[in-house]
Amino acid sequence: MDVTSHAEELASALGIDTQEAKDDLEALLSYSVPLEEAKRSVRRKHGGEPGSTDATPETRSLADITTDLETVSVEVRVLTVGTRTIRYQGEDNTIREGRFGDETGTISYTAWQDFGFEAGDSLAIGNAGVREWDDEPELNLGASTSVALAETPVETDAPIGGEADLLALEPGDRGRTVEAKVLSVEQRTINGRDGETEILSGVLGDETARLPFTDWDPHPPVEAGESLRIEDVYVREYRGSPSINLSAFSTVTPLSEPVVVADSAPRLTLAEAIDSGGLFDVEVVANVLEVRDGSGLIERCPDCGRVIQNGQCRVHGAVDGEDDLRIKAILDDGTDSVTAIIGTDLTAEIYGGDIADATDAARDAMDKGVVADAIRDELVGGCFRVRGTLSIDEYGANLTVEEFEPASDKPTSLAAAALAEVRQ
Ligand SMILES: [Zn+2]
Repeated sequence: MDVTSHAEELASALGIDTQEAKDDLEALLSYSVPLEEAKRSVRRKHGGEPGSTDATPETRSLADITTDLETVSVEVRVLTVGTRTIRYQGEDNTIREGRFGDETGTISYTAWQDFGFEAGDSLAIGNAGVREWDDEPELNLGASTSVALAETPVETDAPIGGEADLLALEPGDRGRTVEAKVLSVEQRTINGRDGETEILSGVLGDETARLPFTDWDPHPPVEAGESLRIEDVYVREYRGSPSINLSAFSTVTPLSEPVVVADSAPRLTLAEAIDSGGLFDVEVVANVLEVRDGSGLIERCPDCGRVIQNGQCRVHGAVDGEDDLRIKAILDDGTDSVTAIIGTDLTAEIYGGDIADATDAARDAMDKGVVADAIRDELVGGCFRVRGTLSIDEYGANLTVEEFEPASDKPTSLAAAALAEVRQ
């Protein structure tokens, strides 16, 4: 083992940063302190038991593990195993991550080497490090951790294996398996850690929900309209909603039976939707209070797509703008308000004409504002059923609209009905 490996082992056992452990270790070694003595000193400095390498900590229930503990021994059932490569100090490391369960609860783990266990295995784990991750304790399995099959199966109420409906996925999930239909997909080029890389991004759907996905190592079966079984995905948060991530370790198998996809989104009040922190697919019924400036016939930068003013992109300077149609409208349902952003095609439907019609009208009137005025007449004061993606950032709540149509029921009565339901 080199110094880095020893530092990783110490960091894992002590719940500290590897670089910190390495710096400490190297400082001592530079004074010719023998390695074992140096490691004991580092453990002592960070509050660990100085001689604890071989001592096995007492076996604990998962519910009793807190971040105050440095190392623990546990008997657990493996619930999920995800595989991922992370770049750490310039080197690619393949790690395993997922959740363990026992009779008292579940805990997430990261294994820095391959111990060869699979979902469903019952394990006796000695000397696992405890660290804090997302405000929760997490087990770290490293070079100083022992992993063996438990003598008797470990009972757990938690589901074994990673199969999940899209609705059940949560940011932080790893090693999950979904069966879903590819609703849309596009290829994108990103500047990754190894230069330009092709990735896929789009939307997956099943009977319970629709969620965005990214395939970081494009799998050929991922095509629009395909129903797929996708094993070993991990879930991240993207603008408040879960997003599914496929890696080189994910396996994708086409399904012979098509996956049924929900065609409606959950309907919420704006207050509920905004409270949730962001939703990929939601439906609201609300009044249009205002059609904001920057609606109607606009010009975009041909390089970056930003809306430009007077032929100036704020990134690319003077450019030859491209005409486009869009609407930014304030929606309010009595519980809260949101800015709805309506794209080219829906705006053309609402306006009753395409970009060419709008430029003609603007030329005739010698005023681009006539397009926005026509849209105002159409929308302001009206009540609409709106479906789309709600994202929330420091500037407020935005609803990127997918569907937009006149509503038969009034939002205020709906809000009242929702409130009555809650209060029952
Ligand atoms: Zn630009």
